[in-house]
Amino acid sequence: MHRVLVISPHPDDESIGCGGTVRKHVLDGDSVRVAILTSGEKGGHGNAGESETAARREVEARVAAEILGVEHVEFYRQKDGGLRANKRLIEIIAEQINTWKPHIIYVPHPAEQHPDHRAALRLLQRALGVAKHSPPPRVLAYEIWTPLQRLDEIVDITPYLDTKLQAIAAYNSQCSVMDFVAAAQGLARYRGEMHSWPGGKYAEVFADFSDGRPRRG
Ligand SMILES: [Zn+2]
Repeated sequence: MHRVLVISPHPDDESIGCGGTVRKHVLDGDSVRVAILTSGEKGGHGNAGESETAARREVEARVAAEILGVEHVEFYRQKDGGLRANKRLIEIIAEQINTWKPHIIYVPHPAEQHPDHRAALRLLQRALGVAKHSPPPRVLAYEIWTPLQRLDEIVDITPYLDTKLQAIAAYNSQCSVMDFVAAAQGLARYRGEMHSWPGGKYAEVFADFSDGRPRRG
């Protein structure tokens, strides 16, 4: 049994980026927690105010987590669009690592277009420096807005695709504006056809940042 921590800058990144792999962990008997750093209050798209949007997205995140079978979701309520590796947040994540001792941590990769996504790995690396948990967890970086170029890990998610897409669809506040279900399905299909060979039709891919520095791809 592995303990798996998923760090998600906004509610929905975890389902879009690694929902299939999360479902696989759950069905393998692993214990999965999701830490959502901001509640995505800027994602109201003119339909709702910030506090209403944040509350709605947190509810959606709980529904998505339930669909994936995730046992525990935490909200750190940092500023959407202004995520920084501040001291308090570093300490909270370090504490999480030291007390729960995850074997694997998923986080967005650092070349993502969104600055909050880019900030997440910096934050994690500083938290790992504070935590000094030994052996250090494996750190795998996922893609959301910006496809990865270096692929260290390819996970066949064909059996879990439907569940992943259902989890994404739970974010109705976001999917009503952009068709993230179609986008995620398209990327997973591309990854499956181009990279998961011979094997699955659908895949998720990850870059390994376990040693703090990217391996050459
Ligand atoms: Zn995001």
